[in-house]
Amino acid sequence: MPFDLAACDALLADPNWSDWRWQMRRRIHDETALEAWIDPTDDERAAIEATRGVFRWNITPHYASLMDPHDPSCPIRKQVVPTMDEMRPDLVGVEDPLEEVAHSPVKNLIHNYPDRVAFCVTSECAIYCRYCLRKRMVGDAEMMMRKDELRDALDYLADHAEIRDVLLTGGDPLSLSDKNLGWLLGELRQIPHLEIVRIGSRMPVKLPQRITPELCAVLEQAHPLWLNTHFNHPKELSPGSFAAVDRLLRAGVPVGNQTVLLRGINDDAETMRALVNGLVRMRVRPYYLYQAQVIGGTAHLRTSIEKGMEIVEALRGRTTGFAIPTYVLDTPFGKVPLNGSYVLGRAGDFVVMRTPRGPLWAEPNPLPPREISTLPQIDLPDGIATISTEADPFGVEKRTAPMEA
Ligand code: SF4
Repeated sequence: MPFDLAACDALLADPNWSDWRWQMRRRIHDETALEAWIDPTDDERAAIEATRGVFRWNITPHYASLMDPHDPSCPIRKQVVPTMDEMRPDLVGVEDPLEEVAHSPVKNLIHNYPDRVAFCVTSECAIYCRYCLRKRMVGDAEMMMRKDELRDALDYLADHAEIRDVLLTGGDPLSLSDKNLGWLLGELRQIPHLEIVRIGSRMPVKLPQRITPELCAVLEQAHPLWLNTHFNHPKELSPGSFAAVDRLLRAGVPVGNQTVLLRGINDDAETMRALVNGLVRMRVRPYYLYQAQVIGGTAHLRTSIEKGMEIVEALRGRTTGFAIPTYVLDTPFGKVPLNGSYVLGRAGDFVVMRTPRGPLWAEPNPLPPREISTLPQIDLPDGIATISTEADPFGVEKRTAPMEA
């Protein structure tokens, strides 16, 4: 059945449209529901079937309303509708490139920096982004946190006086009810050495209706509290998102943004400039631009590191200074700013860089066909640290031993 304009109009006019729980209940997760919004291609239809059981698929009606019904290259559609590219050969062995599981002393609590932790308080999300860093756990019922597991994590935080900053992440922490989130924030606020709480949430983008006055009242009780959201494209800057961010700011919650650089979605300077300019109009500070992680099934969405450096360079001098995000790669040794002072050069399919903690890191990053590297060409140093994978991604010898810079 083709795109159904009448069904789409009926949903947009539904009196429950602004109710976030209605939006969650009406999430799209089958072909028939999707046809109310777009005319799916044969490839998309095949991928919906093929990815079943591989990675969960859900889209809120709000986010679906931003999709182009007829253009499969729509940047919104490409973030959330599966395509057969996800099933093509990739570094499928890599589920956890940041070694988060190895750094989790208790379930879903990642302690990789001395004074900070990331606490995955839920595996639930309102949508499932096809490039998600935490595909290994989001959407997986086994990775939801029971109350006793939350208690174990809270005990760990209370026992470690060196932790001053906790990031609530997931999944999406704002998919918790106000009551459960309020309880959790209250428990965190009982821990005297926790100076700040941060929340990572894509709700202002994918389900801005979730940012209710009641939720803002809960957040206001937990200050100092910061929120980082995740806009990737100017099409996502909807009136609903503007209103949601405004409510957060009025509740005293500073809002920053983390964008993931994605091929065919935002990997050109004009799109990125429109995005960051829109964000500062919204009073959201563009914070990080992330190089997409090497997650199985996402090769079609990853860019070269040279492309990201070129985009950030093109922003400099052409927009407000604080609108320019820091382009980074997250590694098990910390976040590496991808600029000339950290990036040492290209060694074939790897980009070699210094890391904040010292060891050199080789990021697997093959150049797309016809793209020419602008980095110095170097030899891959012996013994350099790289992604740990059983697969041998590019036919080079696997090297995992760290080496000091
Ligand atoms: S909202 Fe964030 S955690 Fe959830 S699927 Fe998207 S990228 Fe992953």
